[in-house]
Amino acid sequence: MAGRDLASIVTVMAILGGTAGYLLSDHYSNATDTALSASAAETQHSVESITETASIPDQTPRHETVVLEQGSNLMAVLTASGLERTIAYDAIEALRDVYNPRKLRAGQEFELVYSGDTQDSYELLDVLSFQPDPETIVSVSRTDDGFNASSDKIELTTAQNVAAGTIEQSLFLAAERNGVPLPVLMEMIELYSYEVDFQRDIQPGDSFEVMYQELNNDAGERVRYGDVIYASMTLSGHEVRLYSYTDSHGDTDFYNQKGESYRRALMRTPINGARLSSGYGGRKHPVLGYTKMHKGVDFAAPPGTPIFAAGNGNIARIGPYSSYGNYIRIRHNDSYSTAYAHMTGFAKGLRQGSRVKQGDVIGYVGATGRVTGPHLHYEILKDNVQVNPMRIKMPSGKMLKDKELETFLADAQILRKQYAELSLENRKIASAD
Ligand SMILES: [Zn+2]
Repeated sequence: MAGRDLASIVTVMAILGGTAGYLLSDHYSNATDTALSASAAETQHSVESITETASIPDQTPRHETVVLEQGSNLMAVLTASGLERTIAYDAIEALRDVYNPRKLRAGQEFELVYSGDTQDSYELLDVLSFQPDPETIVSVSRTDDGFNASSDKIELTTAQNVAAGTIEQSLFLAAERNGVPLPVLMEMIELYSYEVDFQRDIQPGDSFEVMYQELNNDAGERVRYGDVIYASMTLSGHEVRLYSYTDSHGDTDFYNQKGESYRRALMRTPINGARLSSGYGGRKHPVLGYTKMHKGVDFAAPPGTPIFAAGNGNIARIGPYSSYGNYIRIRHNDSYSTAYAHMTGFAKGLRQGSRVKQGDVIGYVGATGRVTGPHLHYEILKDNVQVNPMRIKMPSGKMLKDKELETFLADAQILRKQYAELSLENRKIASAD
């Protein structure tokens, strides 16, 4: 039994050692990779030496790694490996308890451990295991009464990494050149989109810094990226630093260096992946033909694209509203409201008076009312008068006070220090290469 347990551990380690294929593209490589793979190699080495001393001479388990080819299935893979058909069938039936074999994809690797014993000239399978994703390990093990399957989450440890850069052409290019992972860049953009209009405000010479989490497996290999915990953007000489902070109620949010909540400001663009198709101000009306003041901004997007509440608030009006078509107005506070027009429909359950939170889906892009095509017409109203969403100084969000502010400022200082230390370390590694 001890031999079999050890075999399972070795199998698990072999699979963990083989996760490189799952790792996020090395396209966005970073300086810590070298250190990570070095520690991975050490870990594997130590496990291998344990098996050497513990192996039992006349019952040496046999390990095999097999791959699911395009158009094949697990049954074919197992029988080709030498498994007797009814045993392969039993193993797959057991697997079904925790994993649907239909979800297997071509290229999936399986680790097989045979006991070394034979029965009717067929080898006996002890363990079949695989990683359907980098955080899960599924295994089917032989027990005294048939196969038993289990699916386990691989425990990940969190580490921090940093990146910084100066923008020459675009934020995207600068981020890529400086090794900012794509999911981290996307989170940064979302974070700053409350204040920054990325199409207009970014200039050559602007710069950024970011500190983010990486989740690593036991072998020290990165499995995925976690949250951004600190970011800074300097636009035309003006720096805005954002710190992730968990307040005394347990709510985590981003605050600027003055302790003002950042996410609570109204979103300038309450929709993802849309193109600004018409700005605010005087224009020739596309339907009526004469010049008319356009009191909002239009975002062209495919029908059905979700529309978000730009901030926390209550639904003040919902329903058809003359040339606006299907319309929602949200009241955020005493002075600010936002309005959304031409929707195809509203999110389920919303009524006048409903409470919404920033980022909640409230409806979907449509072409109701007086329009030439599907788009979101979006307005920000200050004291019931439309203002330009792209130019308005956003109402500041929650402000940390007293003891909470003190704690935040102390935490922010620690994050800054951590950032400085990590970027120094990265520079040392880079120059040592
Ligand atoms: Zn419009």
